[in-house]
Amino acid sequence: MRRKDICPLFSRCGGCDYSLSYKEELQRKTEYVHSLFYSHCPTYETIGSSPTRYRNKVASTFGYDRKGNIISGLYIKGTHHLIEKRDCQLEFEEASGILRAIRRLMKSYKMRCYDEDARHGDLRHVLLRKGHRTGEILVLLIFGSDRYERKKEFANSLCDMCPEITTVCYQVNGEKTSMLLSEAPVHTLIGKGFIESRLFGLSFRVSPTSFFQVNADQTEVLYDMAMHMAGLHGNEKVLDAYSGTGTIAIIASLRAKCVTAVESNHGAVLSAIRSAKDNAIENVSFVEDDASLFLKAEAARKERYDVAFLDPPRSGSDERFLSSLIKLSPEKIVYISCNPETQERDLRYLERFGSYVPIAIQPVDMFPRTAHVETVLLLVKGKM
Ligand code: SAH
Repeated sequence: MRRKDICPLFSRCGGCDYSLSYKEELQRKTEYVHSLFYSHCPTYETIGSSPTRYRNKVASTFGYDRKGNIISGLYIKGTHHLIEKRDCQLEFEEASGILRAIRRLMKSYKMRCYDEDARHGDLRHVLLRKGHRTGEILVLLIFGSDRYERKKEFANSLCDMCPEITTVCYQVNGEKTSMLLSEAPVHTLIGKGFIESRLFGLSFRVSPTSFFQVNADQTEVLYDMAMHMAGLHGNEKVLDAYSGTGTIAIIASLRAKCVTAVESNHGAVLSAIRSAKDNAIENVSFVEDDASLFLKAEAARKERYDVAFLDPPRSGSDERFLSSLIKLSPEKIVYISCNPETQERDLRYLERFGSYVPIAIQPVDMFPRTAHVETVLLLVKGKM
């Protein structure tokens, strides 16, 4: 059944894939996962999220409409045509008011929208992020050039209009690219330059450019399920592979003897180390390396792990990683995935070349209205 409250931009924006009732959408997601895993193990019903206002990160592009009014929104999928987005139901409540305030202030401050083709003007995009359970709000202004001088005054007026904002930063991205962010440094105009998000009572710093789950409520549900499947008692030696900003490793460290986390992205490893420090956690070590290479070296050193978590990117893991994981011989593997197809492929490898038995797969909806579904799969070591 099609929803009655369907968004007027549904077919043009490209952000949503489903216009069904949320109940039906969840059923479809369960059926999809079941269709991939039915010959391996039971599929539990998809755990739903709040279908609205779940996004704590909002990106908006600035430009002009035909009448020359400032608008903020997004390019229609695959085009260079900007459409106005007034209030997206998936985004956090304060976002639309802050974007409106920016549009108004731009007029009084004579700040122009950046024109990508002509390569002149000022403001190009805005990125907003809201901290989970702290309510802190970060505004990142992305300029097309460094020409505009009254950035600080502009930021002050914006905070006067929207007192919920806790920090304002800016970055210059003059490159001809559809990417929002550039490699250029981020400068802080007001506040501490980052926000804090709390998950499981732990605090995580979220900088303007760092990775953090966009649906934090549901991240707690996902990781809770992963911890439940792992069944940690406090004595285990744990591996967290593809550990990103270290959230799983840090959460697991409270329930295990020690955790080793491996991740190839330098910035993510730095954030993870900082979060562990902020939370006074001392039993996690973060390794910056390719996960497959690191696991191969661990296997050569005859290391053993009791439990292994892995949360690879959409492309999944690879045979080098999986063959080393089999050698490390953990009793349990908890495989979190944002792409059940590559997860099923990797599962086949673990079943065929290891003695691993899949117990169950739990889909968790992290992105209502979109075609994405996240899954947690539990495997235990069977007899050889
Ligand atoms: N659980 C993580 C998110 C994992 S996303 C968190 O909460 O932050 C997948 C991660 O895998 C990304 O951080 C990416 O940088 C990392 N990655 C991708 N390929 C990798 C590789 N070959 N070796 C190690 N890490 C890799």
